[in-house]
Amino acid sequence: MDRLRQMFNVVADGNGNASAASIKRHILASGIQLDDFRLSITMERLGALGEGPISFESFVALVGDELLMLKRTFNRELVIPDWEEYCTDLRMIHDRVANDRSGNNANYIPILRDADPEKWGVAVCSVDGQRLEIGDVDVYHSIQSVSKPLTYAYAIEREGPEFLQSYVGVEPSGRPFNSLELLPDMRPFNPCVNAGAIMTAGVVASSWPEKDARAITGEIMKLWSELCGEVAPVRFSEETMLSERETADNNFAIAYLLRGGKGLPRGVDLHKMLDLYLSCCSIEMTASMLSVAAATLANGGVCPITGRQVLTTDVVKKTLSVMQAAGMYDSAGVFTLEVGLPAKSGVAGAVMTVVPNLMGLATFSPRLDSYGNSVRGVAFCRQLVELFTFHIYDSLSGGRTGCKRDPRASQHNRKQRDLSDLQWAVSHGDRYATKVRDLLLECMIAITLADGEIEEPEIVIMAETYVEIMGHQPKQGELHAMARASQEQIAISGSGPFEQLLQRLRDECLQLDDNAREMILEAAFRVACADGIIEPEEDFQLRGIADALCINEGVLELEIARFQRQRAAQPSVVAG
Ligand code: GLN
Repeated sequence: MDRLRQMFNVVADGNGNASAASIKRHILASGIQLDDFRLSITMERLGALGEGPISFESFVALVGDELLMLKRTFNRELVIPDWEEYCTDLRMIHDRVANDRSGNNANYIPILRDADPEKWGVAVCSVDGQRLEIGDVDVYHSIQSVSKPLTYAYAIEREGPEFLQSYVGVEPSGRPFNSLELLPDMRPFNPCVNAGAIMTAGVVASSWPEKDARAITGEIMKLWSELCGEVAPVRFSEETMLSERETADNNFAIAYLLRGGKGLPRGVDLHKMLDLYLSCCSIEMTASMLSVAAATLANGGVCPITGRQVLTTDVVKKTLSVMQAAGMYDSAGVFTLEVGLPAKSGVAGAVMTVVPNLMGLATFSPRLDSYGNSVRGVAFCRQLVELFTFHIYDSLSGGRTGCKRDPRASQHNRKQRDLSDLQWAVSHGDRYATKVRDLLLECMIAITLADGEIEEPEIVIMAETYVEIMGHQPKQGELHAMARASQEQIAISGSGPFEQLLQRLRDECLQLDDNAREMILEAAFRVACADGIIEPEEDFQLRGIADALCINEGVLELEIARFQRQRAAQPSVVAG
């Protein structure tokens, strides 16, 4: 009963009653949609109950059938526990990237040339089915090359990887997507460039002698539909298909080259092969749908929205490997270096990115860079990975990631644990902990004096932090005395003391682990935010401290924004 009571308390009001609205609010705040299949019974019952108060007893009767899912939802036990916080961070990146208007729409066919270049949408779906949609996520657009990895997955599931690989390589090409160049044995480099995707379409087309290209496309559309959890209908654009056919000279050249070189699988008809390839490009979806498809890949082939195994994990593994090696064409190398995630772009402006075991991401923005990748899509991925530990090699232990965030862990709990560990170790004389404490206090005092004055709210925050790390209150006037001593120093030698502090931080930085450096910075901007705003001098000093501690600037900005939000939400903290 206790655990049920705890759950109930999360949604109950001051009178000890919950309501359908409060329950729904909590579910939505966790990132789970109200039409999630895992909560369908609960939702139905809630609907029947209406808007009246829900007592503890009716709550117990209500939640029984889907208890585990509700418990995870209410208790923030989903893969990204602090979903709202995470969404705020992603919105910030979205807004920042929106200012980038560089690049141009693809112009080889009217429908892409005339697409509104301002459209900008970001959709995320976690492997637990938490969903976020920002901006133009419901705009249908042709998926173009984003179709390629799925046609590949379809082909290997149907024909086996060996058969496919005898026709299509898995090597990065380093060439533009429409290049006519092939491997020395006349196989295309990989399934993510046109030549490889055309040959893959050939393998699939040859396996369905009785079906025409459009009927086979229908089968592939069914797979897309399952992959995206049927959140909306997968469409087909006749207009795109007609234009694609009219402008397919280069793709015809590739097809003839393939037929003349290696030969086509089972002697399949060249036009059928090309028609299948072009009609897969003409499938239309939205960023919202693609984010769920990407989440299914992130989740080893099980769609988080429906719970259905759509692809085998082995096929997903191969598909992601190919996306990693070649999904971004001839900038796949740089993308792997900077972003380190499997992704696939298309010339209509979509980028579908997979963070394995965590989430799928899809962006839509039609302006392309010189490689044919969406400018904003790539920029979003870059900024995302600058702030969060999503790059495959961010998992290296012992290294420095610039104190990036990991939304998987509950940061709040971790910070509290760190502070209590520090307190415990300081009280037993641990040298490392003592050093961290000293740097932490000095940085707080430096920020207090950033504008030359010692203000009371700053002393209050310093005292709070002092208690957290020392386990007892500072002596009467102790913090004032420390601050005044520094103030005198500054009066004598200007910015000298702050410069010396930065130098010491730089010297110590290599000996401090990520947690310690973060704690120091966090303490510093707790003080900077004491009066609700960060003054320019404080901002300058915070940046200096972050830089000296090798904490990346994006992370600092994110943290400042987060801290200010928290302050705004609970102004009483300032008063103690
Ligand atoms: N339809 C396009 C082509 O075949 C798809 C290419 C792409 O999205 N990069 O040229």
